[in-house]
Amino acid sequence: MKRKVLIIYTGGTIGMEKNYETGSLMPFDFEHIFRKIPEMNLLECEVSLYSFPEPLDSSDVGTEEWKRIAGCIQERYEDYDGFLILHGTDTMSYTASALSFMLKNLKKPVILTGSQLPIGDLRTDAKENLLTSLYYASLYDGNEAVIQEIALYFEYKLLRGNRSLKHSAEYFDAYQSPNYPVLGQSGVHLNIDKEVLYRPPSGEDFYCDFHLSTDVLFVRIFPGMNLKHFSILPTVKVLVLQVFGSGTIFNNKDTEDTLMKIRDKGIEIVVISQCVSGGIAIGKYSNSNIFHKVGAISGHNITAEAAITKSMHIMGNPNYKNQPFASLFERPLCGEMDIINI
Ligand code: ASP
Repeated sequence: MKRKVLIIYTGGTIGMEKNYETGSLMPFDFEHIFRKIPEMNLLECEVSLYSFPEPLDSSDVGTEEWKRIAGCIQERYEDYDGFLILHGTDTMSYTASALSFMLKNLKKPVILTGSQLPIGDLRTDAKENLLTSLYYASLYDGNEAVIQEIALYFEYKLLRGNRSLKHSAEYFDAYQSPNYPVLGQSGVHLNIDKEVLYRPPSGEDFYCDFHLSTDVLFVRIFPGMNLKHFSILPTVKVLVLQVFGSGTIFNNKDTEDTLMKIRDKGIEIVVISQCVSGGIAIGKYSNSNIFHKVGAISGHNITAEAAITKSMHIMGNPNYKNQPFASLFERPLCGEMDIINI
């Protein structure tokens, strides 16, 4: 039986070609993809295409576009065995993270990929990324999909979407997942590590949660920072603070007063690490005790991308029926973090 995969084309370099007169990259009509990559006709799965009317640079992808992608999957969920989202690389990890919170109890693969060089370029990485992603998006073991989560495939590696981050604007090997093992690797053989794949709670039906709050702000702490700038937070409901190392910040009264004032305004403070690997261990150093005092929430070893989109997903979400923000944030919802105990 041929598995059916829907490609959702949103934009990005993967769907561009060089205009040799102007030298700049322009989106090409993605309907012509089968002509550009004739190998797609040899695939064992049946591929259909849905394109965004205007291909987007991924810096233009935000909450409305995440809802569009999620809605597109929701509407066609029963018609396809797997989904492949073609996306610009710059914000692909944000989209992967957001979708992981929005698409609940997913039982089918949703893979994201893109490329560093356009598909028409001689040295392009688009072809391998696209063909192998289609393989993963159509991989079944009998009646059960092997991947039942949002994954990101790039340069021979399949990563959990909400653990991934883009670390290079230069190299083909542009993504990593520093706090979680690689789900699969493509070499001579296409491998999957079944032990580390996410499984949704059994017996729960797939549904889509479209709630996303935009009252979230992200601030990176730096040495010499003037804390008085925090007074400009009028509409924020969640402040994601990216602090030093395993969770430290300037240990003085000023910092404590500033954070306390933020909390008094009803703003939730989530603390995550500036280090890409490892995470927050409040209490390990005395310079982290302020976070205990002001009731800040530990983001453990979550990525910035997942911390921001998880905050958007939880804050004010009526589907969580008044469960406190902190209790929801501090537990993993879909494999996005591990709890760090000190
Ligand atoms: N600026 C492009 C984007 O993110 C880069 C890419 O696709 O690689 O849409």
